[in-house]
Amino acid sequence: MQRKKEPVLGFGVDLYTFEDSLQFVHQCLKENKGMHIVTINPEMIALGRKNDEFGRVINEADLVIPDGVGVKLALKIKGINQENIPGIEFSKKLMSICELEGFTIGLLGAKEEVVQQAAKKLREEHENLNITYIRNGYFDEQEEDIILQELKAIAPRVVFVALGAPKQELFISKIKSEMPSTVFIGVGGSFDVWSGIVKRAPEWWQKLGLEWLYRTLKEPARFKRIFPALPLFLVRVIIESIREKLG
Ligand code: UDP
Repeated sequence: MQRKKEPVLGFGVDLYTFEDSLQFVHQCLKENKGMHIVTINPEMIALGRKNDEFGRVINEADLVIPDGVGVKLALKIKGINQENIPGIEFSKKLMSICELEGFTIGLLGAKEEVVQQAAKKLREEHENLNITYIRNGYFDEQEEDIILQELKAIAPRVVFVALGAPKQELFISKIKSEMPSTVFIGVGGSFDVWSGIVKRAPEWWQKLGLEWLYRTLKEPARFKRIFPALPLFLVRVIIESIREKLG
């Protein structure tokens, strides 16, 4: 499938639908190809502008999915109607493909009890899902090499990495060349949700695109991360879009 990307403040976002993104990854898995999937949001774009290495890693990813209303709105400002693809839902669908096709998976990240509980719940939900690697996300640089050796030996076809951004993307970028047949996806706080410890926003908040607000109200510490990043992000996108129109 030919990638069609649109830059948002210097970061190319793939304009696939949810279904086509999934198809793209499915095809790669069938062809025994690996890839790095980034689920991008305004916070990550703001971080990528400040941190060159993180910015480079985003732009080197094989698939950049617009996760949340922020990026959807940014594309709308640029005249593009793009479906929002929540990373957590995309990951769940990817898991269903793995279950159906027998692709093994790994879970790397979150606290020990969280990742164990998430694995237990996922196994209950997806009877035939083959989880071959489980590891918490609290490790130092020396342990990184052990994790890489373990991962290489077990070689799961898809590894869900839940270390939060930018840690998960930087870690994936460090190891992906050593595991060319593995699909890596950074999933942020998804294990906390899959374990049942953290609840997602009720569906109507999600439908209105207000999941970020719900999470911020539940976890006020997030406020600092979202503001002023979100409004600033939209202002920058508007300026970028005017500049593009003026040529
Ligand atoms: N985490 C981790 N190792 C770390 C830091 C964070 O495994 O060194 C985990 C943390 O336990 C949580 C996830 O990474 O499960 C980050 O979640 P957050 O909601 O902050 O990520 P976001 O979805 O906002 O990127």
